[in-house]
Formats: sequence, structure tokens, C-alpha cells
Amino acid sequence: MSERITAVKGMNDIAPPDSAHWEWLEARVRALLARYGYRNLRTPIVEPLALFVRGLGEVTDIVEKEMYAFEDRLNGEQLALRPEGTAGVVRAVVEHNLLYDGPKRLYYMGPMFRHERPQRGRYRQFHQIGIEALGLAGPEADAEVIALAADLWAELGVQDVTLELNTLGQPAERAAHRQALIAYFEQHRDQLDADAQRRLYTNPLRILDTKNPAMQPLVEAAPKLLDHLGAASRAHFEQVCRLLDALGIGYRINPRLVRGLDYYHHTVFEFVTTSLGAQGTVCAGGRYDGLVAELGGKPAPGVGWAMGVERLLELLKAQQRLPAVPVPDAYAIVPDAAAWPQVLPTLRALRAAGVEVVMHASTADGLASMKAQFKKADASGARYALIFGADELDQGMVAIKPLREGVGPITEQQRRPLDQALSWAAELRAAR
Ligand code: ATP
Ligand code: MG
Repeated sequence: MSERITAVKGMNDIAPPDSAHWEWLEARVRALLARYGYRNLRTPIVEPLALFVRGLGEVTDIVEKEMYAFEDRLNGEQLALRPEGTAGVVRAVVEHNLLYDGPKRLYYMGPMFRHERPQRGRYRQFHQIGIEALGLAGPEADAEVIALAADLWAELGVQDVTLELNTLGQPAERAAHRQALIAYFEQHRDQLDADAQRRLYTNPLRILDTKNPAMQPLVEAAPKLLDHLGAASRAHFEQVCRLLDALGIGYRINPRLVRGLDYYHHTVFEFVTTSLGAQGTVCAGGRYDGLVAELGGKPAPGVGWAMGVERLLELLKAQQRLPAVPVPDAYAIVPDAAAWPQVLPTLRALRAAGVEVVMHASTADGLASMKAQFKKADASGARYALIFGADELDQGMVAIKPLREGVGPITEQQRRPLDQALSWAAELRAAR
């Protein structure tokens, strides 16, 4: 046997039965997005490296140390696996002039790539579902995107997710705050760790986001951006808060919430949970009014969020909110290979009528015994066995045998005509 090749570290296969939960979650989210008028945008997984350097900012964690960047060995282009979705969405919107007829509400779902240390809730390939509302400047759009996420938690029945909210103001206000921060941290240089020292002049805002416990008191007492906001920024933020109040959506204002990415303006927020250990942020987002212009488009505002699908699924699992994995309606038992010419067309007709039916087929060892087939039928979770035995086939019939009690209209073994599958298909589907 050849040596095995395994998946790249931090990149996971998603196999049944777990994959059913992924599909279930995606379908639930899609249905909710539709109710808010969101439409799907699918962008490439590989983008020019420059998109992320420009879109996220050179001194962000992602660009500095997490990006899968590489040179296309065939033509020397500098490329990257997308570490997040917003930059690609905005690139596509600018490239195809998607705002030509007004604002757009767009969503994406798919894998993202970051070279991080793999651990629970943190992977190198992970998945996000994200939304972007482009062309909408008012605080009601911020409230709407936040409400959409809050609706999702409510609908999925997840508990213990709290909303943290902050505003980053506008560039001039941030610049003034930045100067005040640098001055403050310079005064306390001896208390800065190596990371903070490095960031002092490049990205002092990120120091506020430190996870180092020793620096908490210092960071706690640092100058607050809220004190540097002008009237317009204040009004925007206050209106977001007022609208969330009107919606009955609770939040905590967290002045230290800064987000990792440079392109945020005004509102930023995170939905966090204590149920997932250290990786407790399930969904994060904010307003990024500078990004469209930064990527070469006619200036247009934007607001959105991205949620980590792995983290949300783990949360659902921890809170026992995942549905039972799907089972087929029926499992076809085929005692003798001579039956195939009747089995295949009958099952096909049933499937055309919407029945989910799995057939037992031969393996390298041939066709299993009836007993072994019944065991498989039972293990499949199917509610009925369809028995294509010689006795039944001779009379142009198939036997339906309920495999568990109280799961449908057929409560004891009965026969149905092979050539009229359409007429009894509904009985197999009923009471699902
Ligand atoms: P963190 O502080 O946990 O590193 P982040 O600020 O880097 O998060 P965002 O870029 O805002 O994360 O991404 C949005 C969401 O995507 C996160 O809130 C999280 O749920 C999820 N996410 C981010 N990075 C990872 C990862 N490496 N593995 C799994 N999920 C992730
Ligand atoms: Mg991160």
C-alpha cells in the first residue's frame, strides 16, 4: 500500500453526518437573508495579493502574518487565498459597477484561509457567512444588519450570545485619538509588551485589543475615542443605539472594541458567547465607508458582518440545538440479483415522486443475506423497508415493512403494485 496523504494542518474535511448540519444551517441562513432582501455574490477564493494589502491595511494581523500569499509559478503574479470576504465583495462590486442602480444587499458563504495556530474554534481553512449592505449611509442600515444576526440567534434558539458595540468615528477623529493614544502609551512605555511596542507607531489602536492580562489596567485607562468624536459621529452612533433599543436588541457598549481591520468607520460590533471558551466571537462586523473608494470605486458607504460557521455550529451543538441528522424514507432490500430490472425502475419512480430511498447493492463480497440487509436497513434510520422478494415480484408487488413504530401511516407489512409507484409514494413520505 502507498503512503497516505493527509489534509493540510488546520484544514478540515466536513463529512456526514456533520455535513448535514452545515447544509441545514446554510439553508436556514439563506431563508432569513432572503427575508431581508439579500442576494448571493460568489467571488473567487484566489485574489490578487494587493487586494488584501490595500483593503485590510498593511499593519493588520491578517496581512502581517496570517495570509496565504504565493506567487503563481506560471506567470509570477502575486496572489493570496482570501482571508476574509469583504475585500473580494467590494472588488467585485467596483469591477462590475454593481451599485449603478442603487444600493445592494449581498451575502456570501464559503471558505476563508488564515495561517493561524490551529485550536478549537480556530482553523486555517474556516468558513464564513457574511453580509454586506453597500450604498447605505444611515444608522438604520447598521441597525438592520445587526438585527439580522440577532434574528438568526433567536431563530436557531441559541442562548448566551451578547452584542458588543462601539464606534470608531471618522478618519479625522480617529487620527486625533491616535495621537492621544500614542502620547499616552509613550508615557507608559515601560508597561508595554513587545507586541505593543511594535504597534505603538504603526497601529496603536490595536494595542487596546491586547489579550495580555498584565496590560489590562493600562489599556483600561487609555484615552477613549468616544471623547474625540464630533457631532455627526455621535449622532450616528446614538441613532444606532436608539434603533437597537426600539428593536429590543440588547447590547453592551465596549469602548475597547476596535476590530482587526483598518477599513471600519463608525459602528463596529461583535456577537460574543462565553460558551465556546477562548474563541468566543461568533460574528463580527461594522461600517466600512472608506473601503469602496480605497479599492478604486466611486465613494460609497458599506456595512456588514461575517460569522464563523464552525464556531456557530459548535455553539449549536453545545446548546443541543442541532437537528437530528436526516434519514431516508425507505431502504430497499433485494434478496436476489434477478430482481434488479424491477427494483431500479420502481425506486426511480419513487424518487421522481419525492421519496428518499436507498437501495441495498452488492459489494465485492456479492449480495448480502436478508438478515444482513435488514440490519443495514435498520442502521440507515429509514422508516420503511421495501422488500423486493421473489414471492412479491411474482405477483408484480413489493412489500413495505415499517421498521419502527409510529412513524407513518403504514403500521404493518403490506404489499403495493410495482407499476403504480406514483400512487403509493406519498404513503412513504407522509409523517416525515
Ligand atoms: P479573532 O479575534 O477570533 O481572531 P477576527 O477578528 O480575526 O477573530 P474576523 O476577521 O472578524 O475575525 O472574522 C469574523 C468571524 O470569523 C470571527 O468572529 C470568527 O467567528 C470567524 N473566524 C475568524 N478567524 C477564524 C479562524 N481562524 N477559524 C475559525 N473561525 C474564524
Ligand atoms: Mg483573527
